[in-house]
Amino acid sequence: MTVNLAIDVQKLWKHYREGVFVRKSFAALQGIDLQVPRGEVFGLLGPNGAGKTTLIKILLGIVRGSGGKAFLLGDPAGSRTARRRIGYLPENLSFPPHHTAVRAMQFYGRLSQVPERVIKRRTGELLELVGLSGREKELVRKYSKGMRQRLGLAQAMLHEPELLILDEPTDGLDPVGRSQIRQLISRLKSEGRTVFLNSHILQEVELISDRVAILAQGQVRGVGTPAELTARFHGALASTVKLHLACEDPNALTELEPGYEAALVRMPDNTTQFSCRVESQAKVDQLVDDLRMRNVSILRLERNQVSLEEVFMSAVGSQDSSVSDNETANASLD
Ligand code: ATP
Repeated sequence: MTVNLAIDVQKLWKHYREGVFVRKSFAALQGIDLQVPRGEVFGLLGPNGAGKTTLIKILLGIVRGSGGKAFLLGDPAGSRTARRRIGYLPENLSFPPHHTAVRAMQFYGRLSQVPERVIKRRTGELLELVGLSGREKELVRKYSKGMRQRLGLAQAMLHEPELLILDEPTDGLDPVGRSQIRQLISRLKSEGRTVFLNSHILQEVELISDRVAILAQGQVRGVGTPAELTARFHGALASTVKLHLACEDPNALTELEPGYEAALVRMPDNTTQFSCRVESQAKVDQLVDDLRMRNVSILRLERNQVSLEEVFMSAVGSQDSSVSDNETANASLD
């Protein structure tokens, strides 16, 4: 356990029992390791059933792990001291229908045993921070999904937690709502707080997070910044290169075509578009050399970089754990 880690998960296992007559055990988490330094915005990615909710429940102390350890801010996950220092925004937080924003803040504050004077002092400033001042006396049931989500964040921030765990914070929001939540998360980070968010919106996670972990079938398949993960997986995932070419002799290109499994398209302006998959920079260099040797002019070269989505699909799609373990070892920064 390291004190400057906000989250420290070591060889964490969770077995669920299955079956009424024949008792079977299912491993939702398979000895995962995950370290999140304080002050980081960390995104947890994974397909349905990966074990994300199970991990969050263990961190919050709602569910007990079957093996391994988990610490929050240096305290055991689920302990009273850890719970006091974390804020939680559940997925689809529902508010009692008769509550106004002010009443909801009071309700959740009392549930978390926040002293009355703190609730009073913080409610106004937090509702202003999340852009709900002026609307605080309206019934929450009349709020838009984005407003409810921002109110959910305000309640999670009531006791000035050092670590916020946000479950699908931008789910169901329009671009404006998502941008507002992103701004709030940036603000929390600028205040030195740690944000751990679970989301299946990859582009969102890529925009907000300093680092991400990809969880699949109860295993961590990759950890790193989005740029590091895409760079790590780059070798495994071929990218596409598209060249716009001009040449006198059309045979020069048709001779090259099979070697690169390229697609050739004649353009109306008499140039040729040459597209092929490349696994490495060496392959791109070789292609450029081959073209120049044949006196082909390269008018433009575009290379599609591997996206976080492709990395995700590759990491998650791999059913062969030996492959994924290698990828994890390569991609992990810890
Ligand atoms: P989703 O994105 O769909 O919410 P998730 O990544 O959060 O998925 P979990 O809810 O943690 O995944 O579930 C991981 C696995 O554990 C799934 O196969 C799920 O069916 C199983 N599971 C979760 N809770 C229980 C439970 N209480 N009893 C038995 N199995 C469970």
